[in-house]
Amino acid sequence: MVRRPSDAEVIFNILDLLRSNGEIVGEVRFLDLLKKRKIGASPRRFRKIIYEIPEIEVSVKYSKRKFDYLDRCPVCSSKLATIRGMTLEGKRKVLGYRCGVCGYNSTSHGKPYIYAFRLKNHDL
Ligand SMILES: [Zn+2]
Repeated sequence: MVRRPSDAEVIFNILDLLRSNGEIVGEVRFLDLLKKRKIGASPRRFRKIIYEIPEIEVSVKYSKRKFDYLDRCPVCSSKLATIRGMTLEGKRKVLGYRCGVCGYNSTSHGKPYIYAFRLKNHDL
């Protein structure tokens, strides 16, 4: 059985895995590596924690397909701010969504699909 670990345990293991692997590509692979250490975390919890660790650099590849509507940030699961603009008729309109945590912006980024994680200042 994989039990639910504390945030501190998850953070410790995330950092430890990155130190020994250099870079980890793919969120599923990262979650598998954690599971092997008996650390279970949902993708949503994992992302939330990852973005709270300042030593970690995340690079994301985006597809061309864009979201029509977003409830939470597709990259880090944070709450999003709406980007509003004026239409030609002078009406206010939601143009897209912006994340204050990871910088995701739905007007310029499509759907995220590959995540790569590494430590900042870590030589590969
Ligand atoms: Zn975000």
